[in-house]
Amino acid sequence: HPAPAAAPTDEPKPEAKPEDEEKADSSAKTPNTELINSNFEVSVTLADQQADSSSPLYSVKTFEELGLHKDLLKGIYDMGFSKPSKIQERALPLLLSNPPSNMIGQSQSGTGKTAAFVLTMLSRVDFNLNKPQALCLAPSRELARQIMSVINVMGKFTPVQTEYAIKDNLPRNTTKITAQIIVGTPGTMIDLVRRRVIDTSDMRVFVLDEADNMLDQDGLGDQTIRVKNSLPKSQVQILLFSATFPDHVRAFASKFAPNANKIELQREELSVDNIRQFYMDCRDEEHKYDILVALYTLLTIGQSIIFCQHRHTADRISARMKAEGHHVASLHGAKDATERDQIIDRFREGKEKVLITTNVIARGIDIMQVNMVVNYDLPLMNERSNSRADDVQPDVETYIHRIGRTGRFGRKGISVNFVHDRKTWQQMQQIEEQTGKKIMRIETNDIDVME
Ligand code: ADP
Repeated sequence: HPAPAAAPTDEPKPEAKPEDEEKADSSAKTPNTELINSNFEVSVTLADQQADSSSPLYSVKTFEELGLHKDLLKGIYDMGFSKPSKIQERALPLLLSNPPSNMIGQSQSGTGKTAAFVLTMLSRVDFNLNKPQALCLAPSRELARQIMSVINVMGKFTPVQTEYAIKDNLPRNTTKITAQIIVGTPGTMIDLVRRRVIDTSDMRVFVLDEADNMLDQDGLGDQTIRVKNSLPKSQVQILLFSATFPDHVRAFASKFAPNANKIELQREELSVDNIRQFYMDCRDEEHKYDILVALYTLLTIGQSIIFCQHRHTADRISARMKAEGHHVASLHGAKDATERDQIIDRFREGKEKVLITTNVIARGIDIMQVNMVVNYDLPLMNERSNSRADDVQPDVETYIHRIGRTGRFGRKGISVNFVHDRKTWQQMQQIEEQTGKKIMRIETNDIDVME
């Protein structure tokens, strides 16, 4: 498995480019009014220049108008969805129209992208044909599992068959996958395609969730391109979704999904206002640890995620906290598959309150009770390609995704950044500038203020 997050190594490695997977709480029955009534503006650019994007043809107010199969509608209503979200109003008619067209969709986390592409996959596959027809790739196994849970809930009244392409899931001697929808991570997916366990000849839909991450040349780009190259040259609808599309992948995304309809939001609108952002001035690395321990009570009021840049840091601080009697869990790409699944499931069920992790779950993970995110280390651009340590830039996209793990669906959330020297201070200022959102100082001896 050549993926960075899964490759065992002695060297400390940044987990900036995870390959491995998940999203959930889709079974929540309460209608999400925040999501539906939010008034941010969606801009639509149609691939067909002649078409009028403001035409009512390209917007729906109800799921009925989409002409979906009744079993799918039943699944949608069973999930508690009464009408399409803002992005779904505009995206679904374009996603479901014939002949199929590609789409590049960008909107904040928690606005209904997953539901939109899952619905597209479910409505495009032929349930009478026992062959793979839709592939969905995600950057981590946790995210792939979360997407799968949405497929299974939404498709529960249909005869859909699904399969994972994630590490250690299929018996090694599997020779053929007959499931119609396959969700996985790129390394495992390409392995299954290469061994012809996945026959791609009837493929109709190819989805990249967290697409900017999936196409990044420093990360998963190569594997993702290889998967795409294995698909039939025509007939496959390519769908790219993410909350972020930094400039350096935007052009490539347009090539990867040619003639795509585009649905976008302004970057300023991407960082959510319901997340209050703080920083704490720590004296040095060791002081960061002391502050984290001092925050423990606060961390356990709801649920919290602590992000470190390296696996060994996540391991080290979690071992230390456990030894000191605190209850924390840790998760990163070097742990084995079963353990990862158990840890994220326990966290999702609320059995673990504090999760110490790396960028592996910075994206997509949808757990409502998370009300606090701590950036123990600020997210940084790939250090390996940088010769001078001074030049290391903050990874603003990852920052936005990390803090987006809290404040889901308009709930309140808090993020706390630890800075401990001149360099990290500057990096935080860059994040502040680029996101246009103020990060407020909290005195390290003034933790009560946050409660
Ligand atoms: P994203 O992929 O943009 O992060 P999701 O598709 O996961 O967003 O949707 C976020 C949450 O809102 C999920 O819990 C999902 O079940 C719910 N949701 C999505 N679409 C609707 C809808 N039309 N009505 C009500 N809830 C919705």
